[in-house]
Order: sequence, then C-alpha cells, then structure tokens
Amino acid sequence: MAVQVPSRQLFIDGEWREPILKKRLPIINPATEEIIGNIPAATAEDVEIAVAAARRALSRNKGKDWATAPGAVRAKYLRAIAAKVTERKTELAKLEAIDCGKPLDEAVWDIEDVAGCFEYYADLAEGLDAKQKAPVSLPMETFKSYVLKEPIGVVGLITPWNYPLLMATWKVAPSLAAGCAAILKPSELASITCLELAEVCREVGLPPGVLNILTGLGPEAGAPLASHPDVDKIAFTGSSATGSKIMAAAAQMVKPVSLELGGKSPIIVFEDVDLDKAAEWTAFGCFWTNGQICSATSRLIVHENIAREFLDRLVKWTKNIKISDPFEEGCRLGPVVSGGQYEKVLKFISTAKSEGATILSGGARPEHLKKGFFVEPTIITDVTTSMQIWREEVFGPVLCVKTFSTEEEALELANDTHYGLGAAVISNDLERCDRVSKNLQAGIVWVNCSQPCFCQAPWGGNKRSGFGRELGECIYVLFASQTIVLKTGPDRPGSAGLETGVLTGLIIGPILKTLDETDVLTSSFKRKYGLFVRTGWFFHRGLDNYLSVKQVTQYVSDEPWGWYRSPSKL
Ligand code: NAD
Repeated sequence: MAVQVPSRQLFIDGEWREPILKKRLPIINPATEEIIGNIPAATAEDVEIAVAAARRALSRNKGKDWATAPGAVRAKYLRAIAAKVTERKTELAKLEAIDCGKPLDEAVWDIEDVAGCFEYYADLAEGLDAKQKAPVSLPMETFKSYVLKEPIGVVGLITPWNYPLLMATWKVAPSLAAGCAAILKPSELASITCLELAEVCREVGLPPGVLNILTGLGPEAGAPLASHPDVDKIAFTGSSATGSKIMAAAAQMVKPVSLELGGKSPIIVFEDVDLDKAAEWTAFGCFWTNGQICSATSRLIVHENIAREFLDRLVKWTKNIKISDPFEEGCRLGPVVSGGQYEKVLKFISTAKSEGATILSGGARPEHLKKGFFVEPTIITDVTTSMQIWREEVFGPVLCVKTFSTEEEALELANDTHYGLGAAVISNDLERCDRVSKNLQAGIVWVNCSQPCFCQAPWGGNKRSGFGRELGECIYVLFASQTIVLKTGPDRPGSAGLETGVLTGLIIGPILKTLDETDVLTSSFKRKYGLFVRTGWFFHRGLDNYLSVKQVTQYVSDEPWGWYRSPSKL
C-alpha cells in the first residue's frame, strides 16, 4: 500500500471519542476493492454530544473566546491549519487518492486548494471587524442605523465524497472565520482526510468544540444533525434527493439551509474554435475527477458543421487518457468511488443504449484493469432530449452529445434541464460568449474553459441545483443584523445624552459587499496558467432576495490547457 491509513475516532470537543454505539465502517480502496481500514460511525447519540460541545464553544467566556473574539484571533487558527495542511500535503493527497480514487496529481491540487481556502478565509476573518457597524443612510435625522455581522451559531456541515477534504473546507473555513461552531459530517464513502483535519485542529490547539467531526452514515449521523433543534443552520453539498430530505427536516424548525446539489451542465462548442483546444476542455470538463463533479459539463452541444471532425478529435483525446491506479505516474482517470457507483454508471450507459443512443467511445470497464471500479471515459451520440442520459446526472465519466445549427438552438438545448449549476461556452467570438453567458441558466459559466474554480468567486447553482452561494466574499453563515438606534436627548423621551439601542431587526441572508471585478487567483492555478476571474456579487439586502448570482470565469491564455496528453504529439 502506498500510504498507511491512520485509525481514528470521532472528533468531539477537541478530543478523539469512540462512538457511543462503538460502530465502525470499512474503508474500501476503489482501485483494488480491498479493505484498507475503517472509520468510526456516529449515531444520534454522538450527534447529541457534539452539538452540546459546539454550543459550549460558542458561549465559553461569554463568547469572547470564539464567537465574538476579534476576527484576527480566529484567523490565526485558520492560518495555522493552512500551514499544517501544507506541511502534510503529500500524505494527505495520498490518503485522498486511496480513499476516493482520484488521480494523485488531482489530489495534490485539491490539498493545495484546501490550504489556499483556509488562508483566504483567514484574510476575510481579519477584515471582518473593520466592516462592523457599517452605517445605513436613513431618510430621517431622528434615527441612525448601522449593520452588525454576527455568527449564526452552531452550524451543521454535510459533505460528499468527490472532493472530500476540499468540499469540507469550503464550509469549515468560512463558518469558523465567521465565528460559528461547526459539526462536520463527511461522506461515509471518503472520510479519511476529514479525520486528518481533526488531527490538524488538535495539533494547532483549536479551542474545544469549535469544530467537531462526525463520520458515519447519512441517515444515522447526517439526519439527526439536520433535524437537531440546537443546530442553527445546515450547509449541505450532495445529491438533490438528499438535499430535498434535509430541507424538509430543517423546515420543521424553520432552520436556514444552503444547498449545493447536482447538475447536468452543458458545454456549447461553436464552429470557430481551435478543435484540439476545445476537445481538451471538453474532455477535462467531463472526465476530470473521474467524471464525478457536480458541475461536470456532461452534455456536449456542438455546432453541426464541425461535429464530425470535432468528435473524431475528441475520441482521440479521450482514448489517450491514461486510466490506471491513481498512484501510477501520469494517471488521469482512476476508478469511480464505490461498487454502487460503478454499477450505477454502467446502468446509465446500458439504458442509453437500450433507448437507441450510440456508444461512440468507451462504455465499459477498461480491458487492462481486472479489479477496481474503473469505467472508460464514454462518449454517447444519437441522443434525444427525452433520454435518461440527457436528463439525469450520471456522476461518472460519461458525456452525451447533441448538435445545433443556431445560437438560439444551442441555448435552448443548454437550458433544457431542471438543473442550473454550471455551463461552458467555447468560441473565439467573445461578444458571442458574453451574450451566451448571459442567457445560460446556471450559477457558474465558464468561457473557453470548463471547471477551474477559485475560492475567491461565488459558487452555487440555480433551479434544482440548489440555492445559496459558497466561496467568495460571501461568508454565508452570518446574519446581517440591523440595529436602529433612536437618538435620545433633552427633547426626546428616554434618558438624556447617550444613544440607546431600542430596535433590533434581523435580516437573514447573504451579506458583505460588492466584488465587482477581480483578478484574484489561487496559487495552484496561478503558477501555471494566466486565468482571469470576473465575479459579480451584489448585496442590497432586500434586493438580494430577488437577485441570482452568476459567476463567469474566462480562460484568457493562448496556451492549451495541457492536462491531458495531446494525441497529435504521439
Ligand atoms: P449524497 O446526497 O448521497 O450524500 C451527501 C452527504 O449527505 C453524505 O455525507 C451523506 O452521508 C449525507 N446524507 C445522506 N443521506 C442523508 C440524510 N437523510 N440526512 C442527512 N445527511 C444525509 O451525495 P454524494 O453521493 O455523497 O455526492 C454526490 C452528489 O453531490 C452529486 O449529486 C453531486 O452533483 C453533488 N455535489 C454537488 C456539489 C456542488 O457544489 N453543487 C459539489 C459536489 C457534489
């Protein structure tokens, strides 16, 4: 084995604790199907203890130790976590790869992004105090008003297995930056690195109870967390089916939720493109992370004039992708995460066939791999819009294809989905890209690329892909509390002289300020590729309730992406 999997317990109140019912779940390496260890399985009994620990952490020393401490205090811990993650990068990347099957090179990327995300929110935590008491201009001189930003309280963070530590970090880092205390419930299919995050927190001396990590099954550990009356908010990333259950549970207590759910995202390729560059982005957009990305652009919509040549080129790129154990040098596609997922993906392919689609490339287990949950990168043509393969999320390396003749038709096909997470447009005509971006119904639009993601830009979907945004300046776990202060004085009722806070109204919702245009980059992408990120995020409180946020990220380099081996170089 390339790496030793540590044996851990649940992380509650700053300590390792055996689950009350002493249950454990096996860890299976998806590349070999071997059991390589086990994780503790929490139940409602453990959730109870963790929630109590989180509440204590919030109120310890009247909140001064954490929730109401200066942002700089919390930032210090976030930076210490980032430094430890960086120190342990190689080991954490190996643990991630062996747990969920992603190629080791991708896992290294993830861990770098984890450290970058903790650093980013450390910056924001430091900046938070200066933004307190932002004045609100009122039409009456007899009142003055300001806005306070306060942590929501105890938050439950429930995450999936495709980017195990990174998805957890997207929630842990901003919630701790805001001053919340959190209970993280990672996916039972890939929890190893989240338990190592617990060890990191222990080593940096994070105050007890501020972050509790409960591994275990969804219905046994996730559900009691979602319905717990002392949990003030649930932030969830996972499937739409589970998201809907969580929303229903939270609704009983009118508990706020944010949901990052599935997708069936389109990529539109116009006829004016460089075929090889577009083919590589199309492959990356669907086959990266073994095809298990919520925002995977898994519906290719290509102009009919180039369709035949483009698909020919795409098949060549696809056949050139190295499929192997994630630890092999140059691996670009590993196994899907589990036996269940493997069966599910193959079923999608066989249903597509039985509905009359054509498997242009792939469609089965690679011949050279007898063990492991490997599925070839698969391209499916002759698809109709009523087919399951066009409508439902596969969450595996499967791309389906349709052609178009006009921009209008391309948009109609692209928006023909209940989902609204990501979308990509590839064209040399930037005006057209701009127009198409505006008309795509998605929370994230990529121009001349697909998938690069930066923690500085807001992330999230529309329609059945969920609501709320993660990342970016929006530390979503905050309340904006508006305090209206009645000015008192000799000519006013109340005590003379001092101002008295009398009215406090709560406005729930995302906060913070406008991030109009930035060119901020995460270190891992910045080093190699000159990317420009344009983000839009508007906060006008009441208005926010009716505005949807769309992130548009454009690749502006002339260089090919260079992630896969080019078939022309063979
Ligand atoms: P899943 O819904 O099966 O599980 C997600 C998490 O929810 C896990 O931790 C699981 O244990 C927990 N869970 C399951 N049932 C629960 C219940 N009844 N109550 C509370 N928690 C419960 O999803 P998955 O298979 O782990 O992840 C794949 C899905 O996640 C895909 O649909 C993908 O698109 C989506 N995803 C979305 C994003 C995004 O940013 N929008 C990112 C990554 C993954």
